[in-house]
Amino acid sequence: MIVGIPSGLLFYRYFPLWKSFLEELGADVLESGETTRSILSRGVTRCENDSCLPVKVFYGHALALKDKVDALFIPRIVSVEKRTHTCPKMLGLPDMIRLAEDGMPPIIAPTIDFHEGFWRNYKAVYQLGSSFTRDPRRILRAGISSWERHRAYRNHLAQGLKPRDAMNGDGQKLSDGRVLKIAVIGHHYNVFDSFTTMSLLDRLQGMDVDVVTSDMIPEEVQRAELRSLPKDIYWSYEREVVGSVLACVRRKMVDGVIFMISFACGPDSILQVVCEQERKAAGNLPMMCMVIDEHTGEGGFITRIEAFVDMLRRKKLQELRETRVA
Ligand code: SF4
Repeated sequence: MIVGIPSGLLFYRYFPLWKSFLEELGADVLESGETTRSILSRGVTRCENDSCLPVKVFYGHALALKDKVDALFIPRIVSVEKRTHTCPKMLGLPDMIRLAEDGMPPIIAPTIDFHEGFWRNYKAVYQLGSSFTRDPRRILRAGISSWERHRAYRNHLAQGLKPRDAMNGDGQKLSDGRVLKIAVIGHHYNVFDSFTTMSLLDRLQGMDVDVVTSDMIPEEVQRAELRSLPKDIYWSYEREVVGSVLACVRRKMVDGVIFMISFACGPDSILQVVCEQERKAAGNLPMMCMVIDEHTGEGGFITRIEAFVDMLRRKKLQELRETRVA
């Protein structure tokens, strides 16, 4: 059985986990590769107009796999920790893709919901495994080894590898002791999709800038910063985004922050305001919000990035001169 995994949205977070689990159970896994112009165009054509860019991209990836696989694997991730939810678009993703076009392959969509406690999720994973094998020990072994693969992948991301390098455990690190350090914060799919971000991370490294992503900021640091907010944030992945921005601006971990947001993203439009207020209250560390959609032009995007980097570099040099004089 060939199972397709579209390379969008939570792909950047869980692909090694999903791939390892399915392969241990005997499936062949096919992913749709890097986003391209044609993948994006196909997604834009089939997806609702008012959806965010990452969902449109995901449609394109799912359609690219349509005629090559026996089934698509699109878990319904409701919540990944108690008292939080994922974005509603992620909840509805399997149903939306099922109706994307006539003749879509069957969708394998286990529901993961940590509101329901560990055992409900264990059952969901076990049921998924049972559709491939009747051997419960094989399912358990697949679960354990895929979780180990996931932990290794997350560790590599934390060390500063980009997702595809982190999957192989080798590659050039985003942070390498350069003088200027910029955090690029946003959802994984807004930060790591090199087509929609116009190779932002590579460009920054090409400008001799160290890059910090939210994977490189320890979870306990993010959580400590979130505790100071007057109200809890109940969107799971957005908690990481806001916790990372707060850590950067309050602890002065970097020289500036690029906050990557998708146009039409409901959660980010609210959290951007929270981050902006906290940034001002914490001493005004430079932060630039980049809102991207399928119409974002490369020229304007790069000009803004270059101007931001130039401004930060001048500021940094000035600070270094002042420190030397003192
Ligand atoms: S969180 Fe925002 S960008 Fe992500 S799927 Fe939801 S609406 Fe789209």
